Amino acid sequence: MAHYIPDNLPDRIQHYIDGEFVDSVSGKTFDVLDPVSNENYATAAAGQTEDIDRAVASATRAFQSGPWPRMLPRARARILHRIADAVEAQDARLAELETFDTGLPITQALGQAQRAAENFRFFADLIVAQADDTYKVPGRQVNYVNRKPKGVAGLITPWNTPFMLESWKLAPALASGCTVVLKPAEFTPLSASLWASIFEEAGLPTGVFNLVNGLGEEAGDALVKHPGVPLISFTGESSTGQTIFGNCAANLKGMSMELGGKSPAIVFADADLDAAIDSTLFGVFSLNGERCTAGSRILVERPIYEEFLERYAARAKNIVVGDPHDPGTEVGALVHPEHYDKVMSYVEIGKSEGRLLAGGGRPDHLPDGNYVSPTVFADVGPDARIFQEEIFGPVVAITPFDTDEEALDLANGVRYGLAAYIWTSDLTRAHTFAQAVESGMVWLNSHNVRDLRTPFGGVKASGLGHEGGYRSIDFYTDQQAVHITIGDVHTARFGAADASAP
Ligand code: NAD
Repeated sequence: MAHYIPDNLPDRIQHYIDGEFVDSVSGKTFDVLDPVSNENYATAAAGQTEDIDRAVASATRAFQSGPWPRMLPRARARILHRIADAVEAQDARLAELETFDTGLPITQALGQAQRAAENFRFFADLIVAQADDTYKVPGRQVNYVNRKPKGVAGLITPWNTPFMLESWKLAPALASGCTVVLKPAEFTPLSASLWASIFEEAGLPTGVFNLVNGLGEEAGDALVKHPGVPLISFTGESSTGQTIFGNCAANLKGMSMELGGKSPAIVFADADLDAAIDSTLFGVFSLNGERCTAGSRILVERPIYEEFLERYAARAKNIVVGDPHDPGTEVGALVHPEHYDKVMSYVEIGKSEGRLLAGGGRPDHLPDGNYVSPTVFADVGPDARIFQEEIFGPVVAITPFDTDEEALDLANGVRYGLAAYIWTSDLTRAHTFAQAVESGMVWLNSHNVRDLRTPFGGVKASGLGHEGGYRSIDFYTDQQAVHITIGDVHTARFGAADASAP
Protein backbone atom coordinates (compact mmCIF):
# COMPACT_ATOMS: atom_id res chain seq x y z
CA MET A 1 0.00 0.00 0.00
CA ALA A 2 1.37 3.42 -0.96
CA HIS A 3 2.12 5.44 2.12
CA TYR A 4 0.28 8.78 2.06
CA ILE A 5 2.42 11.74 3.10
CA PRO A 6 0.80 15.19 3.30
CA ASP A 7 2.38 18.03 1.31
CA ASN A 8 4.64 20.49 3.11
CA LEU A 9 5.12 18.28 6.12
CA PRO A 10 7.58 19.94 8.54
CA ASP A 11 10.67 17.95 9.47
CA ARG A 12 11.28 20.12 12.53
CA ILE A 13 8.73 20.99 15.22
CA GLN A 14 9.64 23.85 17.54
CA HIS A 15 8.33 25.55 20.66
CA TYR A 16 6.40 28.80 20.30
CA ILE A 17 7.34 31.27 23.03
CA ASP A 18 6.61 35.00 23.19
CA GLY A 19 5.49 35.10 19.56
CA GLU A 20 8.54 33.25 18.15
CA PHE A 21 9.18 29.70 17.04
CA VAL A 22 12.26 28.54 18.96
CA ASP A 23 14.32 25.45 19.69
CA SER A 24 15.07 24.21 23.18
CA VAL A 25 17.74 26.17 25.03
CA SER A 26 19.66 22.90 25.36
CA GLY A 27 19.13 22.04 21.68
CA LYS A 28 17.59 18.69 22.74
CA THR A 29 15.08 17.04 20.44
CA PHE A 30 12.98 13.89 20.25
CA ASP A 31 11.85 11.85 17.26
CA VAL A 32 8.30 11.86 15.97
CA LEU A 33 6.96 8.98 13.89
CA ASP A 34 3.83 8.34 11.88
CA PRO A 35 1.86 5.24 12.86
CA VAL A 36 1.47 3.75 9.38
CA SER A 37 5.15 3.49 8.46
CA ASN A 38 6.48 3.82 12.03
CA GLU A 39 9.29 5.89 10.53
CA ASN A 40 10.47 9.13 12.06
CA TYR A 41 9.30 12.03 9.93
CA ALA A 42 10.35 14.92 12.17
CA THR A 43 12.30 15.90 15.23
CA ALA A 44 10.59 18.01 17.84
CA ALA A 45 12.19 20.34 20.37
CA ALA A 46 12.38 18.57 23.72
CA GLY A 47 11.48 21.19 26.32
CA GLN A 48 13.33 21.23 29.64
CA THR A 49 12.93 23.34 32.77
CA GLU A 50 14.61 26.37 31.17
CA ASP A 51 12.20 26.30 28.21
CA ILE A 52 9.21 26.11 30.54
CA ASP A 53 10.74 29.01 32.51
CA ARG A 54 10.91 31.12 29.33
CA ALA A 55 7.35 30.22 28.32
CA VAL A 56 5.99 30.99 31.80
CA ALA A 57 7.89 34.32 31.82
CA SER A 58 6.30 35.23 28.49
CA ALA A 59 2.81 34.24 29.65
CA THR A 60 3.34 36.11 32.94
CA ARG A 61 4.32 39.32 31.11
CA ALA A 62 1.28 39.01 28.85
CA PHE A 63 -0.90 38.47 31.89
CA GLN A 64 0.53 41.26 34.05
CA SER A 65 1.02 43.99 31.48
CA GLY A 66 -0.62 42.87 28.24
CA PRO A 67 -4.15 43.78 27.14
CA TRP A 68 -5.71 40.29 27.09
CA PRO A 69 -6.94 39.88 30.70
CA ARG A 70 -8.30 43.43 30.71
CA MET A 71 -10.16 43.39 27.38
CA LEU A 72 -13.94 43.61 27.30
CA PRO A 73 -15.52 40.17 26.84
CA ARG A 74 -16.90 41.26 23.47
CA ALA A 75 -13.43 42.18 22.23
CA ARG A 76 -11.99 38.85 23.39
CA ALA A 77 -14.97 37.05 21.85
CA ARG A 78 -14.32 38.64 18.45
CA ILE A 79 -10.81 37.19 18.44
CA LEU A 80 -12.08 33.80 19.60
CA HIS A 81 -14.62 33.76 16.75
CA ARG A 82 -11.85 34.62 14.29
CA ILE A 83 -9.90 31.64 15.66
CA ALA A 84 -12.96 29.44 15.09
CA ASP A 85 -13.31 30.80 11.53
CA ALA A 86 -9.65 30.02 10.81
CA VAL A 87 -9.93 26.48 12.19
CA GLU A 88 -13.03 25.88 10.08
CA ALA A 89 -11.38 27.30 6.99
CA GLN A 90 -8.49 24.85 7.26
CA ASP A 91 -10.34 21.86 8.67
CA ALA A 92 -9.32 19.61 5.78
CA ARG A 93 -5.62 20.43 6.25
CA LEU A 94 -5.89 20.00 10.01
CA ALA A 95 -7.58 16.63 9.54
CA GLU A 96 -4.94 15.54 7.05
CA LEU A 97 -2.08 16.36 9.43
CA GLU A 98 -3.86 14.92 12.46
CA THR A 99 -4.59 11.68 10.61
CA PHE A 100 -0.98 11.42 9.51
CA ASP A 101 0.33 11.97 13.04
CA THR A 102 -2.23 9.95 15.04
CA GLY A 103 -3.56 7.25 12.68
CA LEU A 104 -7.17 8.37 13.29
CA PRO A 105 -9.48 7.75 10.32
CA ILE A 106 -9.66 10.91 8.21
CA THR A 107 -13.44 11.31 8.42
CA GLN A 108 -13.25 11.22 12.22
CA ALA A 109 -10.27 13.59 12.32
CA LEU A 110 -12.27 16.04 10.22
CA GLY A 111 -15.12 15.88 12.72
CA GLN A 112 -12.64 16.58 15.53
CA ALA A 113 -11.24 19.63 13.69
CA GLN A 114 -14.74 21.03 13.30
CA ARG A 115 -15.42 20.37 16.95
CA ALA A 116 -12.29 22.36 17.83
CA ALA A 117 -13.75 25.36 16.00
CA GLU A 118 -17.04 24.88 17.80
CA ASN A 119 -15.27 24.91 21.19
CA PHE A 120 -13.91 28.40 20.44
CA ARG A 121 -17.27 29.63 19.18
CA PHE A 122 -19.03 28.27 22.22
CA PHE A 123 -16.76 29.95 24.79
CA ALA A 124 -16.74 33.20 22.79
CA ASP A 125 -20.52 33.33 23.10
CA LEU A 126 -20.47 32.26 26.73
CA ILE A 127 -18.27 35.09 28.00
CA VAL A 128 -20.39 37.72 26.29
CA ALA A 129 -23.47 36.31 27.99
CA GLN A 130 -21.72 35.87 31.36
CA ALA A 131 -23.46 37.40 34.39
CA ASP A 132 -22.05 37.35 37.89
CA ASP A 133 -23.93 37.21 41.14
CA THR A 134 -24.87 40.10 43.37
CA TYR A 135 -26.41 39.52 46.81
CA LYS A 136 -28.43 42.11 48.66
CA VAL A 137 -28.94 42.27 52.41
CA PRO A 138 -31.71 44.89 52.51
CA GLY A 139 -30.66 48.10 54.19
CA ARG A 140 -27.23 46.76 55.18
CA GLN A 141 -24.99 45.37 52.50
CA VAL A 142 -24.52 44.65 48.84
CA ASN A 143 -22.13 41.84 47.98
CA TYR A 144 -21.03 41.17 44.45
CA VAL A 145 -18.72 38.78 42.65
CA ASN A 146 -15.70 40.27 40.91
CA ARG A 147 -14.59 37.54 38.52
CA LYS A 148 -10.89 37.61 37.61
CA PRO A 149 -8.75 35.37 35.39
CA LYS A 150 -6.40 33.32 37.59
CA GLY A 151 -3.18 33.92 35.68
CA VAL A 152 -0.96 31.61 33.68
CA ALA A 153 -2.75 28.32 32.98
CA GLY A 154 -0.68 25.17 32.39
CA LEU A 155 -2.43 22.91 29.88
CA ILE A 156 -1.28 19.31 29.45
CA THR A 157 -2.95 17.16 26.81
CA PRO A 158 -2.95 13.55 25.52
CA TRP A 159 -2.46 12.14 22.03
CA ASN A 160 -5.81 10.58 21.22
CA THR A 161 -7.53 13.59 19.61
CA PRO A 162 -4.77 16.15 20.16
CA PHE A 163 -6.01 19.27 18.39
CA MET A 164 -9.59 18.97 19.63
CA LEU A 165 -8.56 18.26 23.23
CA GLU A 166 -6.16 21.22 23.16
CA SER A 167 -9.07 23.41 22.02
CA TRP A 168 -11.18 22.12 24.90
CA LYS A 169 -8.65 23.71 27.27
CA LEU A 170 -7.37 26.63 25.19
CA ALA A 171 -10.82 28.03 24.40
CA PRO A 172 -12.10 28.44 27.99
CA ALA A 173 -8.67 29.45 29.34
CA LEU A 174 -8.30 32.22 26.76
CA ALA A 175 -11.98 33.21 26.96
CA SER A 176 -11.52 33.69 30.72
CA GLY A 177 -8.61 36.08 30.16
CA CYS A 178 -5.85 33.71 31.27
CA THR A 179 -2.61 33.38 29.39
CA VAL A 180 -1.37 29.86 28.73
CA VAL A 181 1.50 27.43 28.35
CA LEU A 182 0.44 24.34 26.41
CA LYS A 183 2.41 21.08 26.67
CA PRO A 184 0.98 18.70 24.05
CA ALA A 185 1.53 14.94 24.01
CA GLU A 186 4.92 13.84 22.72
CA PHE A 187 3.49 11.11 20.46
CA THR A 188 1.54 13.69 18.43
CA PRO A 189 3.02 17.20 18.42
CA LEU A 190 2.26 18.05 14.77
CA SER A 191 -1.12 19.78 14.87
CA ALA A 192 -0.40 21.81 18.04
CA SER A 193 2.15 23.97 16.21
CA LEU A 194 -0.66 25.16 13.88
CA TRP A 195 -2.26 27.06 16.76
CA ALA A 196 0.52 29.66 16.66
CA SER A 197 -0.31 31.06 13.21
CA ILE A 198 -4.06 30.65 13.75
CA PHE A 199 -3.81 32.75 16.94
CA GLU A 200 -1.45 35.33 15.42
CA GLU A 201 -3.70 35.92 12.43
CA ALA A 202 -6.78 36.17 14.62
CA GLY A 203 -5.11 38.96 16.62
CA LEU A 204 -4.32 37.22 19.91
CA PRO A 205 -1.75 39.45 21.64
CA THR A 206 1.84 38.20 21.76
CA GLY A 207 2.72 36.07 24.77
CA VAL A 208 -0.85 35.00 25.55
CA PHE A 209 -0.30 31.59 23.94
CA ASN A 210 2.92 29.67 24.48
CA LEU A 211 3.70 26.13 23.42
CA VAL A 212 6.44 23.90 24.79
CA ASN A 213 6.87 20.45 23.29
CA GLY A 214 8.58 17.67 25.17
CA LEU A 215 8.31 14.58 27.28
CA GLY A 216 5.86 14.41 30.13
CA GLU A 217 8.53 13.66 32.73
CA GLU A 218 10.58 16.67 31.60
CA ALA A 219 8.54 19.53 30.07
CA GLY A 220 5.24 18.41 31.62
CA ASP A 221 6.80 17.95 35.04
CA ALA A 222 8.51 21.37 34.93
CA LEU A 223 5.22 23.04 34.05
CA VAL A 224 3.39 21.28 36.87
CA LYS A 225 6.07 22.30 39.38
CA HIS A 226 6.51 25.90 38.20
CA PRO A 227 5.54 28.26 41.03
CA GLY A 228 4.36 30.91 38.53
CA VAL A 229 1.60 28.66 37.16
CA PRO A 230 -1.34 28.66 39.60
CA LEU A 231 -3.49 26.12 37.79
CA ILE A 232 -3.06 22.94 35.78
CA SER A 233 -5.64 21.48 33.46
CA PHE A 234 -4.66 17.91 32.64
CA THR A 235 -6.16 15.22 30.44
CA GLY A 236 -4.48 11.84 30.36
CA GLU A 237 -4.09 8.58 32.23
CA SER A 238 -5.27 8.20 35.80
CA SER A 239 -1.79 7.18 36.99
CA THR A 240 -0.25 10.32 35.43
CA GLY A 241 -3.04 12.31 37.08
CA GLN A 242 -2.03 10.88 40.46
CA THR A 243 1.60 11.94 39.93
CA ILE A 244 0.56 15.43 38.87
CA PHE A 245 -1.86 15.69 41.81
CA GLY A 246 1.09 15.06 44.16
CA ASN A 247 3.34 17.52 42.38
CA CYS A 248 0.69 20.26 42.44
CA ALA A 249 0.42 19.96 46.22
CA ALA A 250 3.66 21.85 46.93
CA ASN A 251 2.20 25.00 45.41
CA LEU A 252 -1.46 24.23 46.23
CA LYS A 253 -2.39 24.59 42.58
CA GLY A 254 -5.89 24.50 41.15
CA MET A 255 -6.38 21.28 39.19
CA SER A 256 -8.81 19.99 36.65
CA MET A 257 -8.28 16.34 35.77
CA GLU A 258 -9.93 14.41 32.98
CA LEU A 259 -8.60 10.88 33.30
CA GLY A 260 -9.11 7.35 32.07
CA GLY A 261 -12.25 5.28 31.70
CA LYS A 262 -13.69 1.79 31.43
CA SER A 263 -17.23 2.79 30.68
CA PRO A 264 -20.10 0.28 30.60
CA ALA A 265 -22.83 0.06 27.98
CA ILE A 266 -25.78 -1.77 29.52
CA VAL A 267 -28.22 -3.34 27.06
CA PHE A 268 -31.50 -4.56 28.54
CA ALA A 269 -33.71 -7.09 26.75
CA ASP A 270 -36.35 -4.43 26.04
CA ALA A 271 -33.88 -2.17 24.19
CA ASP A 272 -34.11 -1.18 20.55
CA LEU A 273 -31.51 -3.74 19.56
CA ASP A 274 -30.68 -2.31 16.13
CA ALA A 275 -29.92 1.10 17.64
CA ALA A 276 -28.02 -0.44 20.58
CA ILE A 277 -25.80 -2.47 18.26
CA ASP A 278 -25.01 0.50 16.01
CA SER A 279 -24.22 2.66 19.01
CA THR A 280 -22.17 0.16 21.01
CA LEU A 281 -20.06 -0.65 17.94
CA PHE A 282 -19.39 3.04 17.33
CA GLY A 283 -18.89 3.60 21.06
CA VAL A 284 -15.81 1.40 21.29
CA PHE A 285 -14.43 1.25 17.74
CA SER A 286 -14.61 4.94 16.76
CA LEU A 287 -11.35 6.89 17.15
CA ASN A 288 -9.61 3.48 16.93
CA GLY A 289 -10.93 2.74 20.41
CA GLU A 290 -8.51 5.41 21.68
CA ARG A 291 -11.35 7.26 23.32
CA CYS A 292 -11.67 8.15 27.00
CA THR A 293 -15.44 7.65 26.95
CA ALA A 294 -15.30 4.38 24.99
CA GLY A 295 -18.02 1.94 25.99
CA SER A 296 -15.42 -0.79 26.35
CA ARG A 297 -17.52 -3.09 28.53
CA ILE A 298 -20.89 -4.17 27.21
CA LEU A 299 -23.29 -5.76 29.69
CA VAL A 300 -26.15 -7.60 28.01
CA GLU A 301 -29.31 -9.02 29.63
CA ARG A 302 -29.39 -12.81 29.32
CA PRO A 303 -32.53 -13.28 27.10
CA ILE A 304 -30.92 -11.34 24.22
CA TYR A 305 -27.28 -12.25 24.99
CA GLU A 306 -26.68 -14.85 22.27
CA GLU A 307 -28.51 -12.85 19.58
CA PHE A 308 -26.57 -9.73 20.58
CA LEU A 309 -23.24 -11.57 20.41
CA GLU A 310 -23.97 -13.04 17.02
CA ARG A 311 -25.05 -9.76 15.45
CA TYR A 312 -22.36 -7.71 17.18
CA ALA A 313 -19.51 -10.03 16.20
CA ALA A 314 -20.69 -10.21 12.58
CA ARG A 315 -20.61 -6.42 12.34
CA ALA A 316 -17.25 -6.15 14.14
CA LYS A 317 -15.68 -8.57 11.66
CA ASN A 318 -16.97 -6.39 8.84
CA ILE A 319 -15.43 -3.13 10.11
CA VAL A 320 -13.08 -1.61 7.56
CA VAL A 321 -9.56 -1.43 8.98
CA GLY A 322 -7.03 0.33 6.81
CA ASP A 323 -5.17 3.40 5.68
CA PRO A 324 -6.26 6.25 7.95
CA HIS A 325 -6.32 8.64 4.95
CA ASP A 326 -8.86 6.54 3.06
CA PRO A 327 -12.36 8.02 3.63
CA GLY A 328 -13.75 4.47 3.66
CA THR A 329 -11.64 3.48 6.67
CA GLU A 330 -13.50 2.93 9.94
CA VAL A 331 -10.54 1.90 12.14
CA GLY A 332 -7.06 3.21 11.35
CA ALA A 333 -3.63 2.65 12.90
CA LEU A 334 -2.93 2.95 16.63
CA VAL A 335 -0.87 5.97 17.53
CA HIS A 336 2.52 4.44 18.29
CA PRO A 337 4.25 1.02 18.37
CA GLU A 338 4.50 1.22 22.18
CA HIS A 339 0.75 1.66 22.42
CA TYR A 340 0.20 -1.05 19.78
CA ASP A 341 2.23 -3.46 21.93
CA LYS A 342 0.17 -2.57 24.99
CA VAL A 343 -3.14 -3.14 23.19
CA MET A 344 -1.86 -6.39 21.64
CA SER A 345 -0.80 -7.62 25.07
CA TYR A 346 -4.40 -7.14 26.27
CA VAL A 347 -5.66 -9.01 23.21
CA GLU A 348 -3.48 -11.96 24.29
CA ILE A 349 -4.61 -11.67 27.91
CA GLY A 350 -8.22 -11.62 26.69
CA LYS A 351 -7.82 -14.95 24.94
CA SER A 352 -7.55 -16.65 28.34
CA GLU A 353 -10.18 -14.44 30.00
CA GLY A 354 -13.02 -14.58 27.49
CA ARG A 355 -14.41 -16.22 24.36
CA LEU A 356 -12.91 -14.61 21.26
CA LEU A 357 -15.67 -13.77 18.76
CA ALA A 358 -13.94 -11.36 16.39
CA GLY A 359 -10.46 -10.03 15.70
CA GLY A 360 -7.74 -11.16 18.06
CA GLY A 361 -4.67 -9.72 16.37
CA ARG A 362 -3.36 -7.89 13.33
CA PRO A 363 -5.52 -7.93 10.16
CA ASP A 364 -4.01 -10.28 7.56
CA HIS A 365 -4.02 -7.66 4.80
CA LEU A 366 -2.02 -5.12 6.84
CA PRO A 367 1.43 -6.56 7.59
CA ASP A 368 2.95 -3.19 8.62
CA GLY A 369 1.77 -0.27 10.73
CA ASN A 370 0.01 -0.31 14.09
CA TYR A 371 -3.18 -2.04 12.96
CA VAL A 372 -5.35 -4.11 15.31
CA SER A 373 -8.51 -5.90 14.17
CA PRO A 374 -11.64 -4.91 16.07
CA THR A 375 -11.61 -7.52 18.80
CA VAL A 376 -14.64 -8.87 20.65
CA PHE A 377 -14.49 -11.06 23.75
CA ALA A 378 -17.65 -12.61 25.21
CA ASP A 379 -18.35 -14.20 28.63
CA VAL A 380 -15.84 -11.92 30.35
CA GLY A 381 -16.01 -12.11 34.14
CA PRO A 382 -15.81 -9.07 36.42
CA ASP A 383 -12.36 -10.01 37.74
CA ALA A 384 -10.80 -10.24 34.30
CA ARG A 385 -8.10 -7.70 33.53
CA ILE A 386 -9.81 -6.87 30.23
CA PHE A 387 -12.93 -6.02 32.27
CA GLN A 388 -11.08 -3.91 34.85
CA GLU A 389 -8.24 -2.14 32.99
CA GLU A 390 -8.36 0.59 30.37
CA ILE A 391 -7.05 -0.84 27.08
CA PHE A 392 -7.60 2.28 24.93
CA GLY A 393 -7.83 0.33 21.69
CA PRO A 394 -10.37 -1.52 19.54
CA VAL A 395 -11.10 -4.23 22.11
CA VAL A 396 -14.41 -4.85 23.85
CA ALA A 397 -15.45 -7.16 26.70
CA ILE A 398 -19.04 -8.44 26.73
CA THR A 399 -20.64 -9.87 29.88
CA PRO A 400 -24.15 -11.28 30.46
CA PHE A 401 -26.39 -10.32 33.41
CA ASP A 402 -29.71 -11.54 34.80
CA THR A 403 -31.08 -8.75 37.02
CA ASP A 404 -30.92 -4.96 37.25
CA GLU A 405 -29.02 -5.27 40.55
CA GLU A 406 -26.41 -7.51 38.99
CA ALA A 407 -26.06 -5.12 36.03
CA LEU A 408 -25.50 -2.21 38.42
CA ASP A 409 -22.89 -4.14 40.44
CA LEU A 410 -21.05 -5.02 37.24
CA ALA A 411 -21.29 -1.47 35.90
CA ASN A 412 -19.95 0.01 39.13
CA GLY A 413 -17.41 -2.72 39.85
CA VAL A 414 -14.35 -0.95 38.41
CA ARG A 415 -12.14 1.88 39.65
CA TYR A 416 -13.24 4.22 36.83
CA GLY A 417 -16.40 6.30 36.49
CA LEU A 418 -16.36 8.41 33.35
CA ALA A 419 -19.39 7.51 31.19
CA ALA A 420 -22.23 4.97 31.06
CA TYR A 421 -24.59 4.13 28.21
CA ILE A 422 -27.97 2.58 29.02
CA TRP A 423 -30.23 0.89 26.49
CA THR A 424 -33.82 0.18 27.57
CA SER A 425 -37.34 1.22 26.58
CA ASP A 426 -38.46 1.32 30.22
CA LEU A 427 -38.41 4.94 31.36
CA THR A 428 -38.42 4.18 35.07
CA ARG A 429 -35.60 1.67 34.78
CA ALA A 430 -33.62 4.06 32.58
CA HIS A 431 -33.67 6.85 35.13
CA THR A 432 -33.33 4.60 38.19
CA PHE A 433 -30.26 2.98 36.67
CA ALA A 434 -28.82 6.26 35.36
CA GLN A 435 -29.02 7.85 38.79
CA ALA A 436 -27.42 4.88 40.55
CA VAL A 437 -24.57 4.29 38.14
CA GLU A 438 -21.20 5.65 39.27
CA SER A 439 -20.21 7.80 36.32
CA GLY A 440 -19.80 11.49 35.62
CA MET A 441 -21.91 11.25 32.47
CA VAL A 442 -24.75 8.98 31.35
CA TRP A 443 -26.30 8.54 27.94
CA LEU A 444 -29.74 6.95 27.72
CA ASN A 445 -30.44 5.24 24.40
CA SER A 446 -27.75 7.28 22.69
CA HIS A 447 -24.02 7.45 22.29
CA ASN A 448 -21.52 10.13 23.03
CA VAL A 449 -23.18 13.28 21.72
CA ARG A 450 -23.32 16.18 24.10
CA ASP A 451 -24.24 19.81 24.44
CA LEU A 452 -21.22 21.93 25.39
CA ARG A 453 -23.15 23.54 28.26
CA THR A 454 -23.39 20.24 30.16
CA PRO A 455 -20.87 19.16 32.82
CA PHE A 456 -18.01 17.06 31.44
CA GLY A 457 -15.88 14.95 33.73
CA GLY A 458 -15.58 11.72 35.63
CA VAL A 459 -15.89 10.38 39.16
CA LYS A 460 -13.65 7.88 41.02
CA ALA A 461 -10.39 7.31 39.11
CA SER A 462 -11.76 9.08 36.02
CA GLY A 463 -11.22 12.61 37.15
CA LEU A 464 -11.41 15.52 39.46
CA GLY A 465 -13.75 18.43 38.83
CA HIS A 466 -16.12 19.01 35.97
CA GLU A 467 -15.68 21.33 33.02
CA GLY A 468 -18.23 22.31 30.37
CA GLY A 469 -20.17 25.55 30.06
CA TYR A 470 -19.68 27.97 32.95
CA ARG A 471 -17.87 25.29 34.96
CA SER A 472 -14.86 25.75 32.70
CA ILE A 473 -14.96 29.51 33.19
CA ASP A 474 -15.19 28.93 36.96
CA PHE A 475 -12.03 26.84 36.80
CA TYR A 476 -9.98 29.49 35.00
CA THR A 477 -11.25 32.41 37.10
CA ASP A 478 -11.31 33.49 40.72
CA GLN A 479 -14.59 34.69 42.10
CA GLN A 480 -13.67 37.44 44.50
CA ALA A 481 -16.45 38.46 46.86
CA VAL A 482 -16.69 42.24 47.37
CA HIS A 483 -18.79 43.34 50.36
CA ILE A 484 -20.12 46.93 50.59
CA THR A 485 -21.84 48.35 53.61
CA ILE A 486 -24.73 50.62 52.72
CA GLY A 487 -26.46 50.91 56.08
CA ASP A 488 -26.19 50.09 59.68
CA VAL A 489 -23.87 47.12 60.20
CA HIS A 490 -23.25 46.71 63.86
CA THR A 491 -19.54 46.95 64.75
CA ALA A 492 -18.27 46.15 68.23
CA ARG A 493 -16.19 49.20 69.26
CA PHE A 494 -12.93 47.66 70.58
CA GLY A 495 -10.75 50.15 72.46
CA ALA A 496 -13.48 52.75 72.55
CA ALA A 497 -14.08 52.62 76.31
CA ASP A 498 -13.26 55.84 78.16
CA ALA A 499 -9.66 55.29 79.34
CA SER A 500 -9.98 57.90 82.12
CA ALA A 501 -12.92 56.13 83.72
CA PRO A 502 -12.09 54.45 87.07
P1 NAD B 1 -0.60 10.25 29.55
O1 NAD B 1 -1.09 10.40 30.94
O2 NAD B 1 0.48 9.28 29.28
O3 NAD B 1 -0.07 11.65 28.99
C1 NAD B 1 -0.90 12.79 28.94
C2 NAD B 1 -0.02 14.03 28.95
O4 NAD B 1 0.64 14.12 30.20
C3 NAD B 1 1.08 14.04 27.89
O5 NAD B 1 1.22 15.35 27.37
C4 NAD B 1 2.31 13.65 28.68
O6 NAD B 1 3.50 14.12 28.13
C5 NAD B 1 2.03 14.33 30.00
N1 NAD B 1 2.73 13.77 31.16
C6 NAD B 1 3.14 12.49 31.34
N2 NAD B 1 3.77 12.37 32.53
C7 NAD B 1 3.76 13.59 33.11
C8 NAD B 1 4.25 14.11 34.34
N3 NAD B 1 4.88 13.33 35.22
N4 NAD B 1 4.06 15.41 34.62
C9 NAD B 1 3.41 16.20 33.74
N5 NAD B 1 2.93 15.78 32.55
C10 NAD B 1 3.10 14.48 32.24
O7 NAD B 1 -1.89 9.94 28.69
P2 NAD B 1 -1.96 9.57 27.15
O8 NAD B 1 -1.47 8.17 27.01
O9 NAD B 1 -1.35 10.67 26.36
O10 NAD B 1 -3.53 9.64 26.89
C11 NAD B 1 -4.40 8.56 27.04
C12 NAD B 1 -5.14 8.68 28.36
O11 NAD B 1 -5.87 9.90 28.40
C13 NAD B 1 -6.17 7.59 28.56
O12 NAD B 1 -6.12 7.13 29.88
C14 NAD B 1 -7.49 8.31 28.31
O13 NAD B 1 -8.63 7.74 28.92
C15 NAD B 1 -7.19 9.66 28.85
N6 NAD B 1 -8.12 10.65 28.29
C16 NAD B 1 -9.08 11.17 29.12
C17 NAD B 1 -10.01 12.09 28.62
C18 NAD B 1 -11.09 12.65 29.50
O14 NAD B 1 -11.66 13.67 29.14
N7 NAD B 1 -11.38 12.06 30.65
C19 NAD B 1 -9.92 12.49 27.28
C20 NAD B 1 -8.94 11.94 26.48
C21 NAD B 1 -8.03 11.03 27.00
